[in-house]
This record gives sequence, structure tokens and C-alpha cells, in this order.
Amino acid sequence: MSHTVLVVEDEEDIATPLVRALRHEGYQVTWADSGAEALKRLGGTDPAEVVILDLGLPDLDGLEVCRQARESGYDGAIMIVTARAAEVDRVVGLDLGADDYLAKPFGLAELQARVRALLRRASRSPARAAEDSLRIDVAAHRVYARGEEISLTGKEFELLAVLVASRDKVVPRDQLMAQVWDQNWFGSTKTLDVTVGRLRQKLEAAGAVEKVVAVRGVGFRLESHPD
Ligand code: CA
Repeated sequence: MSHTVLVVEDEEDIATPLVRALRHEGYQVTWADSGAEALKRLGGTDPAEVVILDLGLPDLDGLEVCRQARESGYDGAIMIVTARAAEVDRVVGLDLGADDYLAKPFGLAELQARVRALLRRASRSPARAAEDSLRIDVAAHRVYARGEEISLTGKEFELLAVLVASRDKVVPRDQLMAQVWDQNWFGSTKTLDVTVGRLRQKLEAAGAVEKVVAVRGVGFRLESHPD
């Protein structure tokens, strides 16, 4: 059976090529052009496995659609798409239960890659994932990958702990700055990039399954099951 995707987008000019591209990938795609229609479909029996959700809808804000869908028990993957790039940080901070975020304009290839990643994550057995995953001992400030301890600095550890707490979700840069460096950061976040770079290298060197992925213009995400 092919995977199911729901595209929630009021603008036909955007929805049509999107739906076509996803169908071309072999997915069974439905299109909802309003928030009410999206909620009706997600609340029905056998809802789509992945929702691509535009924030700017005519009847109901996309964020509200996301919140209500989760509230009513929808447990598929939600990817928020927005032209309001500046709002993404705020949106991520609200934690309304979305799994991924994409800023408009985006390439279809990128969208397809993200959808594939969401489906892969959804179908992975939790037991198997847990076995391979990083193990963190917060009290002792220690991290293990495949049974071996990874040596991290204090900031690297704190950064990783924040990312792990939001595993597979994007954590905005300002949230990382606030939580790890304990301050509101108005200037350069070069420190953050440098620390992420070192953490990434150490995880890679240790053979960890997880990867720290940069989400352009938003922040970082710890991916449990990268390619
Ligand atoms: Ca729209």
C-alpha cells in the first residue's frame, strides 16, 4: 500500500504542483484547501500518515489546525510550511506538536526528501531505535554511543541535552542560546555554530546514529535516523 499524504494549502497555484510532485513519488495524496477541511480529514478514520500544513489559511490559522489535530489524537507526522519565515522561531518554541518545518519558497526535491524522512521515522521500530541510540546520563554529565563514552565539554553536553529533549524536532537558535548560554542573545551566534560543529564531529567520530542537522534560518535538529 502506498503512503498517504495530506496537503493543506489554500492557494491552488502552490497546491497543484505540490500534489503532482508527491503523486509522482508514488504517494496517495489528498488536498484540503482550508483548516476546517484538514481537521475533518485528520479526525476521520485512516487519516494521512504525513500532513504538509500551510500556516496561512483563510479560515483557521495553521498553528491552530496543528494544535487541534494533536489534541484530537492525530499521531501522524506534521510538517509546517510557512512564508512567514520570521515566525518559524516562535512557532517552534510554542511546540504545537509539529515534526518538521519548511520555509517558503522551497524546492520540491527538498520537500520530498523531508517527507521521505518523516515516513522513515514513523515506520522505524521504537525498540530497535532505542538500542542504537545515544544514551545520556544527565546527572553524571556523561554520554555514550554504542556503549562507548563520548568526551564532551560542558557546553557541548548541555547543547546535546537540549537537542535530545526535542529529538527529531527543530530547536530554534535563540532557544539554544538561552538554554545553553543562559542569556538572551542579540548579537552573533557564532559560539553556537562552533559548538555545534565540534559536537557534530564528536558524534560522528563515535559512530553515533544521531546527527545534528542545521535547519537554515531556524536552528538545529537532532536526527535519530538520518540516511
Ligand atoms: Ca496560504
